[in-house]
Amino acid sequence: MTKSEQLFQEAVTLMPGGVNSPVRAFGSVQETPRFIERADGAYMTDADGNTYIDFVGSWGPMILGHNHPEVLKSVTETAAKGLSFGAATENEVKMARLICSMVPSVEMVRMVNSGTEAVMSAIRAARGFTRRNKIIKFMGCYHGHTDAMLVKAGSGVMTAGIPDSAGVPAGCTQDTLSAEYNNLESVQALFERCPEEIAAVIVEPVGANMGVVPPVEGFLSGLRALCDKYDSLLIFDEVITGFRLSAGGAQEYFGVKPDLTTFGKIIGAGMPVGAYGGRREIMEMVSPVGSVYQAGTLSGNPVAMAAGLSQLSILQNTPDFYKELNAKGDWFFGELDKLLERYAVPHCLNHIGSLGCVFFTGEQVNDYASAKTADTAAYGRYFAYMLNHGVYLAPSQFEAMFLSAAHGRETELAKTLQTVEDYVKEN
Ligand code: PLP
Repeated sequence: MTKSEQLFQEAVTLMPGGVNSPVRAFGSVQETPRFIERADGAYMTDADGNTYIDFVGSWGPMILGHNHPEVLKSVTETAAKGLSFGAATENEVKMARLICSMVPSVEMVRMVNSGTEAVMSAIRAARGFTRRNKIIKFMGCYHGHTDAMLVKAGSGVMTAGIPDSAGVPAGCTQDTLSAEYNNLESVQALFERCPEEIAAVIVEPVGANMGVVPPVEGFLSGLRALCDKYDSLLIFDEVITGFRLSAGGAQEYFGVKPDLTTFGKIIGAGMPVGAYGGRREIMEMVSPVGSVYQAGTLSGNPVAMAAGLSQLSILQNTPDFYKELNAKGDWFFGELDKLLERYAVPHCLNHIGSLGCVFFTGEQVNDYASAKTADTAAYGRYFAYMLNHGVYLAPSQFEAMFLSAAHGRETELAKTLQTVEDYVKEN
């Protein structure tokens, strides 16, 4: 028995599914999760000493690769001065300044501890500001595990096939309206049904929790126009896309300005961090200035701020960082697509910049329904082969592949393409 297997055997007796977050359990791909001991650059090493090229990157934060020396230095130096004070620090001001300077729609920001918290708080701010209750979300988008957002959600919820979670009282979701991703008419219909009740539309500007589903031309700008028409707020959940598609996130990439934005992942460089921010008049509703209450014992934690500041500064100050990362993504996902085409594997490869996904389906995937046509058993077989040949992919069909600056074209990416080719030849 491997060390991972031994650890998992005990873990399942102590933690639900043996894990602290469902998709880590590898249940949908019928494998034993690998217990990771360390990671460096584009690689992770498990408890048995197996090394993998990592395309999960902690689900997005590790855009520079693991263990970046500057991030590590700043974390260790800061930790030596104290782990948490529960009081204001200079790094929080620097972090807020940096986020506001990189994302112009964010005039004020509040740090929290996770993407879930960021979304929960942004929704509360939107409701407080508009004095309305209803929220439109999209099927297949995932906005964390807050009650109101667990309606036809993506990510682990979609993987597990539970459209609505048990334990969420109907009252908590009665104001959540579901629309179809990339379908403006479905949004328009909801607005027409309750024109004066919708506080906000929340959207992943690139769907990245039902696999990867980019917005079709005009979708995001159409949402902006509908929100303006009905005096509702537009919230971009940039927990994945923030600081990944460009320095100013998806909103800069697509040129559409939301009222509020949520962040997570990259802004913490691997530490537990989230943030929400946006127009000053909305953010001034938040306590202690306004009457929308939101707080956090560990929010703006000094070590987390040091990690995030360091990573964001590198992203801001490295010339052509996004141009190069996105070009690498275009090349890699383009090659992967051609390869699968060459071997006549039924697939749909969706990608944008450094995010991509191979759906095992013959259909074009542009929403939740088409994503669900993917053959998850075929994905499971592909996943298992890749894992056992040194390539660590997301253990679910409905997640993204994340490329980082540490993935080299001639090295890790070429080896990955070769491994995919070996798999399709053998199967
Ligand atoms: N929003 C999006 C778009 C996400 O992808 C996620 C997590 O994957 C969340 C919110 C929730 O973030 P967290 O897992 O940090 O609570």
